[in-house]
Amino acid sequence: MLTSYRLELPALNFGEDGVPRSSAFDDVYFDKDAGLDETRYVFLQHNLLTERFSNLASQQRFTIAETGFGTGLNFLCAWQLFLDTAPQDSWLHFASVEKFPLSKDKLEQSLAMWPSLAAFVKPLIEQYPTLCHGLHTLFFPEQRTTLTLWFGEASEGFTAFNGDVDAWFLDGFAPSKNPEMWSDELFQNIQRLSHQGTTFATFTAAGIVRRGLKAHGFEVQKVKGFGHKREMMIGTFSLEEDTPAIAPSAPWFATPKATSVTRVLVVGSGIAGSTTAHALANKGIEVDVWEQGEQIACGASGNAQGMLYPKLGASDTPVNRFYLSAYLYANRFYNDLDKNAQLWQQSGLLQLPKNDAEQAKFTKMLDSHLYPESIIKAHANGLELPLSGWVRPQAVCEQLLQHARIHLSLNTKLQSLEKTQAGWLATHSSSSCEYSHAVMCSANELQVLAAWQQWPTKAIRGQVTQLETNKLSQDNQDKVQQVRQVLCGEGYLSPELEGQINFGATYDLGNHSLELCQQSHQENLTKLAALLPINIEQIDLEACKGRVALRCTVTDYTPIIGPVSRHLDLVEKYAPLRQNAKWQSEEQCELIDGLFINVGHGSRGLVSAPLSGFYISNLILNELAALEQGVIEALHPNRFSIRQLKRGEA
Ligand code: SAM
Repeated sequence: MLTSYRLELPALNFGEDGVPRSSAFDDVYFDKDAGLDETRYVFLQHNLLTERFSNLASQQRFTIAETGFGTGLNFLCAWQLFLDTAPQDSWLHFASVEKFPLSKDKLEQSLAMWPSLAAFVKPLIEQYPTLCHGLHTLFFPEQRTTLTLWFGEASEGFTAFNGDVDAWFLDGFAPSKNPEMWSDELFQNIQRLSHQGTTFATFTAAGIVRRGLKAHGFEVQKVKGFGHKREMMIGTFSLEEDTPAIAPSAPWFATPKATSVTRVLVVGSGIAGSTTAHALANKGIEVDVWEQGEQIACGASGNAQGMLYPKLGASDTPVNRFYLSAYLYANRFYNDLDKNAQLWQQSGLLQLPKNDAEQAKFTKMLDSHLYPESIIKAHANGLELPLSGWVRPQAVCEQLLQHARIHLSLNTKLQSLEKTQAGWLATHSSSSCEYSHAVMCSANELQVLAAWQQWPTKAIRGQVTQLETNKLSQDNQDKVQQVRQVLCGEGYLSPELEGQINFGATYDLGNHSLELCQQSHQENLTKLAALLPINIEQIDLEACKGRVALRCTVTDYTPIIGPVSRHLDLVEKYAPLRQNAKWQSEEQCELIDGLFINVGHGSRGLVSAPLSGFYISNLILNELAALEQGVIEALHPNRFSIRQLKRGEA
């Protein structure tokens, strides 16, 4: 468990020649005169990338992993070569780790030296993540490339990675100057993530690297180094038996193997369905979205204004890591989607303590420096989250679903899903269609999965209240119009939008009525008064409008995201867990081919859905996952059956 997500900045200085140097490692990031040529010689040429890129098949994905992202020069060169040589419908995935990431400014300064890469530098700078420990996914659909960046120690990053690597760029400062990075754990992970034919290239010829790679399945060769350098090393992974690329802590947390993808069915057009469909469509996949309602996002994603309110805790847990990386991803996602600030505004959010216990938690969070200040900082009244803001959820879903590869059918209620030889036969009232994969993003509507699993989801009614500001007393009007950031406490209030304020929301367990009710408006007004010193006595309940929806929540308050298994198979195969919760099994878990679930986002879907949708696309396309292994397990749909067994329940 980490005590802080903050990162150490690199001890960086720029010499008179403009070259970035690390004073901590006493080394340069690249050579001024020959930096590009050196990268191309060492990493591109010696991993045979021109040939391998040009030989990729249609829709094929190629994954490169690197130690030491630094200024991103290697990435940019590989990306450029990929677009120059690979077929039009192939994809590049580049994963890199960096313990001391450069700030955005320093990155820009370092890369200004390479005008020939300017077209690649710009999108990288635009999406470059906030400096925070963990996994960050940058997606460049137009350039058919995903960049996965792990900010933290290299071996920790590669332990968290789940997927297959085709070529390694073993960069990083020389082993003599940086022995910690070239650890046995690093080599073990390189082996775990490699398959027969995976290659590596490295600038170094050091014995520790040669021995490490040889001991972990690579045939290693020394070749002439770049320029005046005598030697460097290259090699190929040659073990007959692949070590599993996925290393779940237990077999029931397995993720699926590659299957061929033809057409995918996404059930539900709320924020989970829209982001899932969009991630797949952006990667070249044809997607049908079935929505039972008359319009899109007619459930919990249909409110006029929603907030980006992450559930960030006071300690480092897998679920906390999920919300943290999902939040940072969501911020980039909405900024990228909405260049004209029509769909979202990064207004910032002020979190006010609900009570003394929460105030104490805030103090602990701030005192422990768990989060970088760019993510959470102290505010006179509570916590400030500058990267947050508010979203127009339905408009976001609409824009996402407008993709040319997404085919939306409204009034289309999925009635059954039947496994066929080729995939899935999905039926609605008037007809059936065949799909290679199906993803249930249908919140509380999961009846069609009943043959395989029952899900511990709960529908919780939420009513939001909407008021026209010009109907408020002048005093109240002045106060709400001064609100510039989203306010959250017991309830929330978003800044005024088109002459209205939206606030709420109720949590009504056991009441599933979709009718607006005055009691709920009253409750929301009371919560509003706790956020702002306004006089609610002066507000006429008759003037309150609003909307009711049923959130889909899960008994453990964590979304359910991943592949589906049959509950009865799990309890049969792993039955000894009933007697001994610590029992370990080698028995592979059976996943139902091509069936996925992405539900249970509760009231945090605007935060959690964009990354979840992207992760589902990783699973379907057999890509390196955008979630850490520990997070994958915390969200895994099999967790409920396994918990039941461990508790000895029938
Ligand atoms: N590939 C980079 C580029 O294209 O600009 C240059 C890499 S630079 C020579 C080496 C990088 O490794 C530095 O950015 C350094 O911070 C990083 N590094 C050093 N030790 C590390 C560790 N233990 N874990 C992760 N990254 C590390």
